[in-house]
Amino acid sequence: MMETLSDQITRCLSHPVFQKVAREAAAIGSNVYVVGGFVRDLLLGRDSKDIDFMVVGSGVELAERLSKYRNFSNVQIFKTFGTAMLRYGELNVEIVGARRESYDPQSRKPAVESGTLEDDLRRRDFTINALCISLNEQDFGQLTDRFGGLKDLADGVIRTPLDPDITFSDDPLRMMRAIRFASQLQFKIDPVTLAAIQRNRERIHIISMERITEELNKIILSSQPSVGFRLLDQTRLLEIVFPELHALKGIEERNGIRHKDNFLHTIKVLDNISPNTDNLWLRWATLLHDIAKPQTKRFDPENGWTFHGHNFIGTKMVPQIFRRLKLPLNEKMKYVQKIVNLHMRPVVLAEDTVTDSAVRRLLFEAGDDIEDLMTLCEADITSGIREKVVRYLQNFALVREKLKEIEEKDRVRNWQPPVSGEDIMAVFNIPPSRPVGTIKSVIKDSILDGVIQNNREEAWQLMLKTGQELGLVPQPGTEVPFNRNENIGKD
Ligand code: ATP
Ligand code: MG
Repeated sequence: MMETLSDQITRCLSHPVFQKVAREAAAIGSNVYVVGGFVRDLLLGRDSKDIDFMVVGSGVELAERLSKYRNFSNVQIFKTFGTAMLRYGELNVEIVGARRESYDPQSRKPAVESGTLEDDLRRRDFTINALCISLNEQDFGQLTDRFGGLKDLADGVIRTPLDPDITFSDDPLRMMRAIRFASQLQFKIDPVTLAAIQRNRERIHIISMERITEELNKIILSSQPSVGFRLLDQTRLLEIVFPELHALKGIEERNGIRHKDNFLHTIKVLDNISPNTDNLWLRWATLLHDIAKPQTKRFDPENGWTFHGHNFIGTKMVPQIFRRLKLPLNEKMKYVQKIVNLHMRPVVLAEDTVTDSAVRRLLFEAGDDIEDLMTLCEADITSGIREKVVRYLQNFALVREKLKEIEEKDRVRNWQPPVSGEDIMAVFNIPPSRPVGTIKSVIKDSILDGVIQNNREEAWQLMLKTGQELGLVPQPGTEVPFNRNENIGKD
């Protein structure tokens, strides 16, 4: 039998956290409600670990009373804002006094005063976020729906409770939130609300980049990110917040030859990769893999449209984009650069006859990120022709096999040079200098090309030979510094 809405609510409210909050609110004579995202997600059957309580009265006083229970931990009370955050097991609990807000056009920080339940629901961003459930004795479990949020939930619609021009102008971050919710929940934005986003788009400039990027990340992590990116484009927010991505739009034709729309291609690849990874940074790499196509586009009458070096220029654009978007400039960024840089390599392997040496080089350069790289390449197949897709996937399966085979044989994935710079300097008694680098790269190339095996002994012999060719003389006694029978380079 189908569970009714009120059964669903009752079952959820039997969790002790609600009982405790209800009891303490009653003790101070204040009404309290569960509100916002938790209610929305409960009704959608989505699991949520964040609970927002709205108390008509003092949030601080309620939080102080709750902090006396052993089960509530990590209590943080913000007296100036009248809010508090607590943990209850794995739940994040937030308590806020009901409020009324009025906005100053220069900022998204409103003047706040305490208000009624009604005031508090009116300040919320969308009808589906303005639902609340009473925890008060007289009507425990009753749902309040002032703005038709239940119907919008059922119809899958994002709509502002009040005039959208005011809602978005007051706090322009809500425009990003609308698009983010549409992408996460796969909802439509009501046409009146959508038109207001487009009209108010320039207001986004008063929002900090960090907050915009937080919403972009949520769009990127949603199960069908193209929904969010299409809406960003449609509302023209895209050209403001992400001009590099906007520049990928459009198709040019010359001599009857067209190239594909690289914006639509990119967001399709992002949709394709989503079932296969929740790694935010692999998804960012996907979004940026073709980012330099506009800069590198050429028309060549023989070969049609080309984008030579777009991976290389793209790698150089990543830090600029990360800096502007206030994304971390650390190893995550380096990872994104690496994937962007290498994203064509498995394709070349799949098309040509694969030599061991080419596979070894790719393994060496990609290291442990080889799996992620292959995942991107497979998602990058966006041909509409089924036979082509099948053929490309089969080719990539062959590349994967070859990668596995070579890695098992040669172990170049986490390659450490079997002979170090220190070894070379000691053997020839030379300071850090160009010959050291030359010898190292001769050894590396010989191993990757399969000229010698990946072990210390063969590398040592090659070092001696190369050094002598460069006119260097080994120190006496360093010719064979280890037992010939043991292979130190191999473990
Ligand atoms: P999620 O937690 O998945 O991001 P959420 O709806 O819970 O979604 P929060 O940012 O946690 O979003 O906010 C909780 C509630 O506070 C929202 O449901 C909404 O009612 C209200 N809210 C949050 N941000 C705004 C805003 N910028 N303008 C108006 N109301 C907001
Ligand atoms: Mg939340």
